[in-house]
Amino acid sequence: MPTPPEWLRKRIHITEQIEAMQQLLTDLGLHTVCESARCPNIAECFGQGIATFMILGDVCTRDCRFCAVNSGTPLPMDSNEPHRVAQAVQRLNLSYVVITSVTRDDLPDGGAKHFAETIHQIRTVMPQTAIEVLIPDFQGSRGVLQTVVEAQPEVLGHNVETVPSLYRTVRLQAKYARSLKLLELVKKLDPRIYTKSGLMLGLGESKEEIISVLEDLRETGCDILTLGQYLQPSKTHLEVKRFVPPEEFQEYETAAVQLGFLAVAAGPFVRSSYRAGELWEKARGG
Ligand code: SF4
Repeated sequence: MPTPPEWLRKRIHITEQIEAMQQLLTDLGLHTVCESARCPNIAECFGQGIATFMILGDVCTRDCRFCAVNSGTPLPMDSNEPHRVAQAVQRLNLSYVVITSVTRDDLPDGGAKHFAETIHQIRTVMPQTAIEVLIPDFQGSRGVLQTVVEAQPEVLGHNVETVPSLYRTVRLQAKYARSLKLLELVKKLDPRIYTKSGLMLGLGESKEEIISVLEDLRETGCDILTLGQYLQPSKTHLEVKRFVPPEEFQEYETAAVQLGFLAVAAGPFVRSSYRAGELWEKARGG
């Protein structure tokens, strides 16, 4: 693996706000992708009282080679979880929240009703909070996707994660075309919902392949884009092939804006939920 460059060094200072966030998560029995995926921005986000909640448990039925979330057989669904997520949003007084989940191919609806119920519970106690859901592909089911769309999140995200030529090595159980179709379908079902997708760079993709994915995403009508550097969570995960310099991220951002994305975040530490509220404001022309 190449040696991590200076721009990827980040020092984490544990502050009172971070400890308070961890205590709240423990009290309410909630998971975050921030912790489960070992996100490098955790000190910044937790320090600002921001977290991305991960529903449907913390065990994923898929085994993607880039992801730090545990895979295996999940525990049964917790029907009280949507209520507790809403409580957390209320206690943190969030004006914008991102909800994601592990992939639950074991459930007939992939957990779509649970997503919808979580949106409903948040709306009940925090009607002014904008909601972004970052969903799995629901195995391409239109009916299942419709359940989430009908709950009307402001933003619906689904990450393509990488270029199609790397799917076999990076995310074997996913399909590039299926992910694109899902994003396209959201716009057909409800054009008012902003769609969002993201890629990790540094897994061996070429510049041409990245641009080609951006073009494909725009063809689906995708509004918001995030591009970040892949970081190997452990020795058993895929190795980093290349550390993409910040200037190159800037080039992709410029290209993406030219292609028509309404809001783009690109940089080594960008993750799909990083400063998500700001990106949504930008997409709305704010
Ligand atoms: S970038 Fe997203 S996943 Fe990472 S710490 Fe912030 S909210 Fe959590």
